[in-house]
Amino acid sequence: MRKLLFQSLFQQPFTEQAPAPADAALAELATAVGQVARRRLGRSLSIREVDAGSCNGCELEIHALNNAYYDVERFGLRFVASPRHADVLMVTGPVTRNMREALERTYDAVPNPKWVIAIGDCGRDGGCFAGSYAVVGGVSEVMPVDLHVPGCPPTPTAMLKGLLALLEHTKAGAATP
Ligand code: SF4
Repeated sequence: MRKLLFQSLFQQPFTEQAPAPADAALAELATAVGQVARRRLGRSLSIREVDAGSCNGCELEIHALNNAYYDVERFGLRFVASPRHADVLMVTGPVTRNMREALERTYDAVPNPKWVIAIGDCGRDGGCFAGSYAVVGGVSEVMPVDLHVPGCPPTPTAMLKGLLALLEHTKAGAATP
């Protein structure tokens, strides 16, 4: 017991080193998204996320955008609880038959102009769930999609790049009507 006590006093902890506090490339990307959003909308960008039937892998990466490392709120990007407060509808997973109506109603509740982003390979065409009796298909089977971010799951950085491309390359007011 005494030996363990002494060891614990001098040994390094067995945890990984924390990432560097400022990842310059990430900060630059997130700042650019925030600035383009302000220029286009005159305010912060609000995102409503809907899991239409995913395995939750994509959700873990989306949640990472809000963790202490990515912390995208500091750049003016917010995830909101109500679709009525959202500019962007971010959808993960294949659209299951059970979730189809809820997704359509959420889409209708987002005010115009709005953008729809399909996240992950499942969001594109159903991914590994394609063909299942429980699945309608990709997000575009149910609503117009402005951007697809590929990957299984896509990284938080890929999602930020997608958001930037979406905001920069769609004309003002040309989002999904
Ligand atoms: S794309 Fe991959 S991680 Fe995302 S919901 Fe589908 S299987 Fe899961």
